[in-house]
Amino acid sequence: MLAVVKEGPGPGFALRDLPIPEPPPGWVRVRVRAVGICGTDIPIFEGVRKVPYPLVPGHEFAGEIDALGAGVQGWQVGERVAVGLVIGCETCPACRRGEENLCPHITEIGIHINGAFAEYVLAPEKTLHRLPDHLSFADGASVDPVASSYRGIRRLNLQPRDTVAIFGLGPIGLYALQAVRAHGVQRVIAVTPRWGLRAEIALRVGADCVIESARVEDVAAAVRDANSGAPPSVVIEATGKPEVFHDVFRVAASGARVLLLGIFHEHASFDPAQIIRKELRVEGSFCYTWDDFEASLDLIARGLVRTAPVITHTLPLSRMAEALDLIHRREAVKVILEP
Ligand SMILES: [Zn+2]
Ligand SMILES: [Zn+2]
Repeated sequence: MLAVVKEGPGPGFALRDLPIPEPPPGWVRVRVRAVGICGTDIPIFEGVRKVPYPLVPGHEFAGEIDALGAGVQGWQVGERVAVGLVIGCETCPACRRGEENLCPHITEIGIHINGAFAEYVLAPEKTLHRLPDHLSFADGASVDPVASSYRGIRRLNLQPRDTVAIFGLGPIGLYALQAVRAHGVQRVIAVTPRWGLRAEIALRVGADCVIESARVEDVAAAVRDANSGAPPSVVIEATGKPEVFHDVFRVAASGARVLLLGIFHEHASFDPAQIIRKELRVEGSFCYTWDDFEASLDLIARGLVRTAPVITHTLPLSRMAEALDLIHRREAVKVILEP
């Protein structure tokens, strides 16, 4: 089978013809029909994030069950599935309370073990979710980034009177925006450095306005101006950029909830007095659980979160190099590959 292999440290990858893997007991083999390129995959391809080499990355995927390992019950060959990447140990306190994303022994498909930038991938039965007939495989491959946003948003306990500022309009920010809108909040303000494709998509999927942070003197003042003079009651950080971190706390109203969704690969500093003096409630969010994934699949199935505006490109798996190029040049938002 054709697979994209990260063979060792340093930048780059190779296209290889690998043997089709056999599912162990309790696992299934999935014929991959759609797989998304995630922000997390970029540092893996660049060799910045170390993974066990050689590795087939790719964790945002959907497909059809192609073979069953021994003892798998309740699933059949040919069923359409979307697959979560988290494999918990099932015995630690986090796993036992259903938060396998916080398992200290977490295994992630496409990060710790071979993933879906390939024609076939193995997945344990417990990571499978049924993909409704009216959803596409690209929808199924998008549940992962939707769930990564939605886990944090569920815990914000959004109210109709809330006003929300979202920093960062990559896939996570754009899916967060839609999930927030689905809660019926009063106003949603998107913040991005400059006008472009991402800002256009944000307006199309429900932002009331977009602020170009590189063009305004004071982001906090610009957000207040766009919000009838009041600072927002909820701020969502979806950039993972240290230079944005400071503004996120500065923009928030006193007593606001601040949700951190971006993954920071560099150290970020901030003034804790901003949290203390405004009594901000800061929520971190990492990955998702089986339940978050199922709830996110439901949001997509009900049309409350739309993947089509966010998926800007669909290419065959063999054109991975071109796909990465599009992302580097910021011409693409979400790229879906079809093996
Ligand atoms: Zn991802
Ligand atoms: Zn565990």
